[in-house]
Amino acid sequence: MAAPQQFFSYVDGNAGSFIQRLAKAVAIPSVSGDGSSRKHVFAMAEFLAHEMEALGIQVNSVDLGNHVLDGEELPLPPVILGSFGHDPKKKIILVYGHYDVQPALVSDGWDTDPFVLSPDEKTGRMYGRGASDDKGPLLGWLNVLEAHIKSNIELPVNLRFCFEGMEESGSEGLDELINSRVGPGEFFDGVDCVCISDNYWLNDRTPCVTYGLRGIAYYKVQVSGPQRDLHSGVFGNTVHEPMTDLIHLLGQLVSTKGEIKIPGISSLVAPVTADEMKRYEVLDYTVADIEHSAGAQVAISDNKTRVLMGRMREPSLSIHGIEGAFSAPGAKTVIPARVSGKFSIRLVPNMTPENVDILVFRYLQEEFAKLGTKSALKIENLHGGKPWLADPNHWNYRAAIKATETVYKKTPDLTREGGSIPVTLTFAEALGVNVLLLPMGRGDDGAHSTNEKLDRSNYIEGTKLLGSYLHEVGIISKS
Ligand SMILES: [Zn+2]
Repeated sequence: MAAPQQFFSYVDGNAGSFIQRLAKAVAIPSVSGDGSSRKHVFAMAEFLAHEMEALGIQVNSVDLGNHVLDGEELPLPPVILGSFGHDPKKKIILVYGHYDVQPALVSDGWDTDPFVLSPDEKTGRMYGRGASDDKGPLLGWLNVLEAHIKSNIELPVNLRFCFEGMEESGSEGLDELINSRVGPGEFFDGVDCVCISDNYWLNDRTPCVTYGLRGIAYYKVQVSGPQRDLHSGVFGNTVHEPMTDLIHLLGQLVSTKGEIKIPGISSLVAPVTADEMKRYEVLDYTVADIEHSAGAQVAISDNKTRVLMGRMREPSLSIHGIEGAFSAPGAKTVIPARVSGKFSIRLVPNMTPENVDILVFRYLQEEFAKLGTKSALKIENLHGGKPWLADPNHWNYRAAIKATETVYKKTPDLTREGGSIPVTLTFAEALGVNVLLLPMGRGDDGAHSTNEKLDRSNYIEGTKLLGSYLHEVGIISKS
């Protein structure tokens, strides 16, 4: 039997308290990438562990030791491992989520305080950093469990939880932890499949299940020259300027049409099959959708398939910022002594951080040599992760598709996503099981952006979806 009606009724009847739970979580500014917020990341871990224990989950907060962030040694936030159910007749489903968030400041352009969940009654949108990425989905699992316990419905599977606090900052320490606990009798032993709810629908109307993710290779290119910042009136046209050199270098990375200029990259990309091509053609997705998500008419092409493939199965290179550059208001006449450009490449099969590194380092060094400057160049790879592809015909996917049809009365789009969640690949490789991405939020949620939101209906129906999925898995394991 599919998920019982009492489950759906409980979720509907307790939507208000589920939203309260989300509001409490959003109020904790658990920004992992900023050292001064580290205490909040720990506070978020504590909040979560407490919520989980109250539901009867056996919780183990695993200390990952320290790391260095911007020259400061800091404790890493714990990975929260939880267990619920030990019935050998049921499958063991591992769910993953992250409780850290991207930075957010009102001055970035938020219309509301990013750390106060702000529901808009008219549109049903609930604004707040982390509402969609990834606190809403993570709490969705706890809502599911609460609904079962309070309604006396037997959970059809055994659950294992793995919640981390460093996802937005390269998941430091997580791979080691997972790999160290896969042996007999260890935490991850016996897991039958993995479900991750940490991505989005393509648009705002059709749910999706996701079977692929791009990887990433993130670089910092530092150009340095004078010993200290200089005055352009005194030193302009007198010394080699690091900023000028860096801008030239960054200008050689990618065309304004999105083509990566680094030689050798395109030959690493796996060719498209006819079958795969068909999947893009049937997706409920238009160029207008991506422009709606972006909030402006800025798509790189009018061709749907080109835009879809650009996001799902082609690499991309984005320039993110320049550290050390003068960026305040006003007209300071400084020549910065040292500047660092940050850029990343999204990877697709058969690219890996390793084979891309070689091409990137060689190309930057060659292009820098052409500048004929006396500045110094230093290239660093800040973090990386391989791309991932799963089999969308696996029972784990069939359960998710069925659950989506039950809750949303729609067949979900089968998508590959442009972002990176490196742990997906770690789970697939370390556990050797199928991994499913089952998103809760919509394509226009603005994760990592200003005015991030989660629609009330996505949170509530999304909770039903996660619960239904567990019941569909339960049915499959009996048949
Ligand atoms: Zn996320």
